[in-house]
Amino acid sequence: MAAAGIVVIFDFDKTIIDCDSDNWVVDELGATELFNQLLPTMPWNSLMDRMMKELHSQGIRIEDIATVLKRSPIHPRIIEAIKSAHALGCDLKIVSDANTFFIETILEHHGLKECFSEINTNPGFVDEQGRLRIFPHHDFTKSSHGCQHSSCPPNMCKGIVIERIQASLSMEDQKKTIIYLGDGLGDFCPTLKLGDGDYVMPRKGFPVWDLICNKRKLVNAEICEWSDGEEFENVLFHLISRIISIDRKNTSAKMGQLYSVDCKLETMPLPVATGHEAFPQALSVLH
Ligand SMILES: [Mg+2]
Ligand SMILES: [Zn+2]
Repeated sequence: MAAAGIVVIFDFDKTIIDCDSDNWVVDELGATELFNQLLPTMPWNSLMDRMMKELHSQGIRIEDIATVLKRSPIHPRIIEAIKSAHALGCDLKIVSDANTFFIETILEHHGLKECFSEINTNPGFVDEQGRLRIFPHHDFTKSSHGCQHSSCPPNMCKGIVIERIQASLSMEDQKKTIIYLGDGLGDFCPTLKLGDGDYVMPRKGFPVWDLICNKRKLVNAEICEWSDGEEFENVLFHLISRIISIDRKNTSAKMGQLYSVDCKLETMPLPVATGHEAFPQALSVLH
C-alpha cells in the first residue's frame, strides 16, 4: 500500500481525545476532591489504582466508568484522520500513560481499535470483584526504568518504548519514517529519539511544544505543530503525502528511471486546504 513505509505513533490523552482520561473519569464521577487530596502522597499511576478502589467501594460499577469514558471529547476530524491513515496503509501505534481499559473502551466506541497495531500503556483490567485495577507499565517498585529525564514519570519512559519500536523496524527491509504526535511532558523523551527524516507533531501551546521550542537544537526530527482536530488532520496528511512522494522519488532514482513523480497523489483523501494554516509550518527558532 502507498503508505506502508510510514509509522504514526500517537500519544492518547489531549492528542487523540481532547482531555486527560484519568482526570475526566475522576471529575465526571465526582471524586476530584479526594484525588487532589491524595495526589501529593503517591505517584499518579498508583493514585489512579487507588481512585478506582474508592469509586468501587462507593458502588460505582465498571459499566459506569465505561459510560463516562464513551462521553470523553474527541474531534470528529481526528476520528476520520485515524481511519484514513490506516486505510492508506500507515502502521498506527499508541504510546500513552493512561491505561489499556480507558484507551480500548474509547477506541472501540469510535470504531478505531482495529486501526492500531500496538497500544503501549499501563495495564488496566477488571478483577473478580468488578474493580478496575491499574498497574504501572514499568514496575518502579522493583527497579527504575533507567531514563534520567525529569519529564518521564517513574512508571513509564515513552522514549524506551520508541527505541524498542525503532529496533524492531530496523529489522524490516523497507526503511520506515516515523511521525510522532503528542502534547505532554512525557512526549519529550520519545521526541529526542526520532532521527533525521522523522517528524514530530507537538500540540501547539502544550507542555511538549514549550519544551521543544526551548530545546530546539536537541530535536533531529522535523517539527510540525498543530492546535486542533482540523490541523491534526491537515498536517498529518500533508506529511503522509510528502513522505510517500519522497519514497517514490527514491525508488525511481534507485531504478535509474527518469519518469516524473506524481506528487499530487490523486487517490489520497487529502483534506481541502483552507489557507496557509493547512500546511505545517516549521517552528520558528526560539533561543
Ligand atoms: Mg497527552
Ligand atoms: Zn525517558
